[in-house]
Amino acid sequence: MGLDKDQGASRQQRLERTLRTLSNGLSAVIHITDEQKLLEEICRIAVNTGGYAFAWIGYAQDDAARTVRPMAHAGFHAGYLQEITVSWAEDALGQGPVGRAIRSRSPEFSRQIASDQLFAPWRKTALKHGFQAVGALPLLVEGSVLGSLNLYSRLDTFDQEEIELLTSLADNLAFGIQAIRIRIQRDEQEALMRNNQQLLQERVKELDLLLSISQIRNQEDLSLLEILEWIAKVLPSAWRFPELAAARVAVYEYGEFKTDGFRPSPYSLKSVLQAGDRDIGEIEVVYLEEPPVQDNSVFLPEEKDLLQSVSAQTADIVQHCQTVVELRKLSGALEQAADTVVITDTEGKIEYVNHAFEEVTGYPRAEALGRKPNILKSGQHPPEFYTHMWETILKGEVYRDTVINRTRDGTLYYEQKTISPLFDQQGRLTHFLATGKDLTEQLRTESRLQYLTRNDALTGLMNQKEFIRHVDQVLRDEASRIESLAVVAIGLDSFKFVNETFGRYQGDQVLKMMGERLSRAVDMPVARIGSDEFCFMLKGKAAKQPEAIVYESLDALAQPFSIQEEELVLTASAGISCYPLDSREGLVLLQKAETAMSRAKTSGIQRFEFYTPDMQVNSVHRLRLNKALLEALEKSQFSLYFQPQIDLTSNLISGVEALVRWEPPGLPAVSPQEFIPLLEDMGRISELGDFVIQEACDAYQRINKAGLDLPQISINLAAPQLEDPLLVRKLTRALDRAGLEAHNLELEITESLLISQFEKVQDNLAELRKLGTGVALDDFGTGYSSLQYLTRYPFSKLKIDKAFIWSMALNSKDYEVVKAIISLGHSLGIRVVAEGVEKKKHVQVLLDLGCRYCQGYLFSPPLEEKAFMSYVKTFTRDFSP
Ligand code: C2E
Ligand code: MG
Ligand code: MG
Repeated sequence: MGLDKDQGASRQQRLERTLRTLSNGLSAVIHITDEQKLLEEICRIAVNTGGYAFAWIGYAQDDAARTVRPMAHAGFHAGYLQEITVSWAEDALGQGPVGRAIRSRSPEFSRQIASDQLFAPWRKTALKHGFQAVGALPLLVEGSVLGSLNLYSRLDTFDQEEIELLTSLADNLAFGIQAIRIRIQRDEQEALMRNNQQLLQERVKELDLLLSISQIRNQEDLSLLEILEWIAKVLPSAWRFPELAAARVAVYEYGEFKTDGFRPSPYSLKSVLQAGDRDIGEIEVVYLEEPPVQDNSVFLPEEKDLLQSVSAQTADIVQHCQTVVELRKLSGALEQAADTVVITDTEGKIEYVNHAFEEVTGYPRAEALGRKPNILKSGQHPPEFYTHMWETILKGEVYRDTVINRTRDGTLYYEQKTISPLFDQQGRLTHFLATGKDLTEQLRTESRLQYLTRNDALTGLMNQKEFIRHVDQVLRDEASRIESLAVVAIGLDSFKFVNETFGRYQGDQVLKMMGERLSRAVDMPVARIGSDEFCFMLKGKAAKQPEAIVYESLDALAQPFSIQEEELVLTASAGISCYPLDSREGLVLLQKAETAMSRAKTSGIQRFEFYTPDMQVNSVHRLRLNKALLEALEKSQFSLYFQPQIDLTSNLISGVEALVRWEPPGLPAVSPQEFIPLLEDMGRISELGDFVIQEACDAYQRINKAGLDLPQISINLAAPQLEDPLLVRKLTRALDRAGLEAHNLELEITESLLISQFEKVQDNLAELRKLGTGVALDDFGTGYSSLQYLTRYPFSKLKIDKAFIWSMALNSKDYEVVKAIISLGHSLGIRVVAEGVEKKKHVQVLLDLGCRYCQGYLFSPPLEEKAFMSYVKTFTRDFSP
């Protein structure tokens, strides 16, 4: 019983497997469009899904031995097929299930290989592979047997249900094969039809060609002989009975061209080739046999016309080619020479080029013929240059000049060109002969050197020396006429961040772009005079009132651009010096413009200054400052001033910014804008920074102890401080020593610092966040304005740069920037503080825009500690406008 049940269960499993085999097989039949692939897939399914040990498909061959040829197989018994021979003949080798199935067209089995006498020829091999049973299912395609699908099992299988399913599988396979074959046949027929159609179209094309034979000379670089041969060859196809037609083209000077099989015939049509009043040859079309025409007209009137037209055109071609041949003879000597030779017709169409032309220009002859020499046009000459050239040669004169041309791959080259008009015997202009001497190598060395002595290698703009020479020349040449001249120096405000953040290459691209922008904006030659500095000169009216142009150029530079999908803005500052007020020399004018530019930079971004004598900050001064700074560090000559921040809504002091001051003994105070970058350059900024941190905490402690309740104090951090791994420890220590909470302290960092160093300072920022110290973004809106950073850190404040506050009432773009920053801050929940508030008008605009916090001279300048304390004490004023 138990055995029966087991057998029942495995039988059930087998049936299910066979069913799955059938459905997978069907899917293969539907989807596979290649017969061989289909056979392989069915074998694979039989083995993988059907669980048969081995499967193969054989096609019945019609050879003498009636072999069954294995076409595909699957399973690990490929060797089996090599060891056996199967036939579908009546002999012993055809008595296995395969042979029987093919002959009987119905499934045949050998269920007990071990004892099946008919299987004797293959028994040993089959048993060696472990096969117990075999089934062969015939493949009936279009009513005849194609072969069989053969399945091998290690079990005694193949009951009635399984056989039915397998028969369906074989039928499906046969159907699939048939469908594929039909499709192929259909495709072939379609291709054949297409082919016929193509042939037909080709004939029509040939006729067309024939009717416009003249075009042939422009189409290819064919010799006259080739052309005549071609005409003879295509002629018959244009006649009513092309298969009976043959043609002959004779040109007395060159010989005779005949189609295969041409012979004199009574059915002939002839036309004479005439050049002027000379007969130069003859064209003939014949039918080699009597054509099957109903009436007497062997040739139609149209055909007579056609032949005449062909002969006229052929004569024309012959004449034309003769001229070219003559020209070639003429240029034969030059063919070997290094000079380029081009022969064009009167319209400039190229008819001949020599080898040197191919070498120099990179245009193979075949490509150049039929085109015009303007394929070499470089764009380096103004249109008038070419007009003049044409005028000269059309007048019949020889033209000579150095021309800059462009090779096929785009390289420029210099050519000493001579273009001569050529005339025929009647004195008519027929061709132009142009010869060219390649001067590139010679000029390249000279001009590159020259170029580099005058131009900046990166941007191609003038260099500083050339600019000075240029200014001096203008001053000299126009000395009597020139009343005023201005030199404008423009420096990008924070270009080094581009280099540091995106690398030199991107930096170079930005400089190139900035040079281009500037050149476009000022419409005067621009020079690059330093890594991120440019300059230009203004004359006449523009020099008297340079503000507008300078403002425009600063604006042009400050347009957004993107690097690596990041949108950036680089602002610039400018300095202006004027002739004759500031100097009468180019060099000095430039130096003074640069001095004014440095000053403009210290007063904000995107500003400009006219040079004034008090600006003379020279390098000696700088060296002195360096020395004095070292001393100042040692002797602690720094102090902090304090500037309040006002809450306009509550009229309370909402915070205070500590600003460092340095008054070297015996010298006027130096601005932090000047000495902080110096300390950074000297690598000593953290010493000052440490002092500021501690001193600010202590001062805040003293201020609060005095009963002046200030919520917080802000200090400014320089870039190296934010990178300092000890920063958080230093802050904690200072806070502890002064007995302050972390939230009492706020650190102001500039936007550009953040962007250029974001990766480096991320750890510190994360720790500051943990510590609970606020981080404010200072001078917001300048430099980059990359907003993505705002969402990457919970900043406590955005401080709108004072330049925007000052210009927002005048410049609608700046107004929009301020408005956007305020609403951006609000939507991100960040407090927005306006810096540099100097006028009531500023307050009014800011209140209208919903900005609540302000800092600026209107309320108070930075004050020394005591003065600040009394300011806070007496602070009751109402600043509402
Ligand atoms: P900042 O952080 O943007 O500071 C504001 C600057 O604007 C201060 O200049 C302040 O005196 C000035 N200011 C405030 N209100 C007005 C106004 O209404 N009109 C005008 N014209 N100016 C106003 P200051 O003190 O010369 O500082 C300049 C810059 O130097 C600061 O800009 C800051 O970037 C840097 N700085 C100052 N102290 C420190 C410091 O302790 N450490 C570091 N790393 N940098 C500092
Ligand atoms: Mg600040
Ligand atoms: Mg600021």
